[in-house]
Amino acid sequence: MTPYEIVRRKRDNAVLSRKEIFYFIDAYMQGQIKDYQMSAFLMAVFFRGLNEKETLLLTEAYLNSGKRINLDDLPGRKIDKHSTGGVGDKVSIILAPLVASLGIRVPMISGRGLGHTGGTLDKLESIPGFNVTGSVHKFKKQMKQIGVAMFGQSESLVPADRRIYALRDVTATVDSIPLITASIMSKKLAAGIDGLVLDVKVGNGSFIPNLSRAMKLAQSLIGVGHAFGKKVTAYLTSMEQPLGYKIGNWLEIEECLECLRGGGPQDLITLTVELSSEMMVLAGLEKNQQNAQKKCYQALKEGKALEKFLELVEFQEGNVEVLLQPEKVKPARFRKKVVSLQQGYISYIDTYRLGVGSVLLGAGRFHARSKVDPLAGIILRKKLGDPVKKDEPIMELHSSKETALQDAEGHLQGAFKIQSNRVQTPQLIRKRLV
Ligand code: URA
Repeated sequence: MTPYEIVRRKRDNAVLSRKEIFYFIDAYMQGQIKDYQMSAFLMAVFFRGLNEKETLLLTEAYLNSGKRINLDDLPGRKIDKHSTGGVGDKVSIILAPLVASLGIRVPMISGRGLGHTGGTLDKLESIPGFNVTGSVHKFKKQMKQIGVAMFGQSESLVPADRRIYALRDVTATVDSIPLITASIMSKKLAAGIDGLVLDVKVGNGSFIPNLSRAMKLAQSLIGVGHAFGKKVTAYLTSMEQPLGYKIGNWLEIEECLECLRGGGPQDLITLTVELSSEMMVLAGLEKNQQNAQKKCYQALKEGKALEKFLELVEFQEGNVEVLLQPEKVKPARFRKKVVSLQQGYISYIDTYRLGVGSVLLGAGRFHARSKVDPLAGIILRKKLGDPVKKDEPIMELHSSKETALQDAEGHLQGAFKIQSNRVQTPQLIRKRLV
């Protein structure tokens, strides 16, 4: 068995064996297979695909590359939620403390923003002092004491995915269903979950613009989860416009606080409660989603979810005082309103462009090592279907750098389309798959 032969076999559409897949990943991790050979393998997989069994084997090989967190000694089911990534998607920050306040244990390993989508870790780090790193021991201790932890991926957790993801990112091989499946599911399985709710984003602000491809991805993720004996449900949800009104790290924390205080934008709350109630059912805490939803709304209204969030922030060394009086945080130094050039209704939002615009403002990164500006971002004043007058603001740009504001403003020209008659807004929750 040689790396050359395995790459050639996949290039020629052969089905790879367990031995071949495990050898390729192990040898890569040991430095015997080089980046150029792995890149060729990834491209062969990108074009030829992997069947269900091969995808499962690749996930196992990834899992095998590092440590796994064992949470079996903690009572109750451990349930997580994972989103494939969107613009303004801050659901995890509301959902994790919400369901934890209702008795679910949530071992959440989150990511950073890369490209046009934001990352939960960057958002949490906009809270002064918030620490997303720590040992497996610290993670487990926190899970035991407060039932929820939101950490970044450590060196020892699925190191094969860390290295291979970085390579995919520069070889145009991210957008492959089996590669995405192995990458996401290996990390979730390594974190010790019993069940998982997936939020597969569909639309112009996601990695997957059409429903049929999103269905395929959801089915592939569910298949691997089931093969490992886990309960998995997937939702396909719209990313034809950002979730909520705020895009950017601290701006999104502000919006999460509004929701945790019982308010917040309708779309964000609806989706958070839908996914949270699914987690309650998977955890066996509720028989049906309607009851679970009532409990979620109650926990938000009564401040139980907020209390749990503050506990989480305190545990992870964040400054709780700032969260109690968010209005005292000064906004970014440079701000600019973008106004509508005509009257009508918002008929299209180029969500991808808004994501890139927020990165230009400083809220995200184009390179894995760049720093983010916690205050940068965009506040939308209008969403799909809203009426707008000429010269009325449609969004507000925030940045700590004046030049960044100018660059983003140029880039965002034409991100909103306006027409004279009202269009139907896309359905937020498109499908539920089990
Ligand atoms: N998120 C991941 O963790 N991996 C992928 O491959 C894509 C999105």
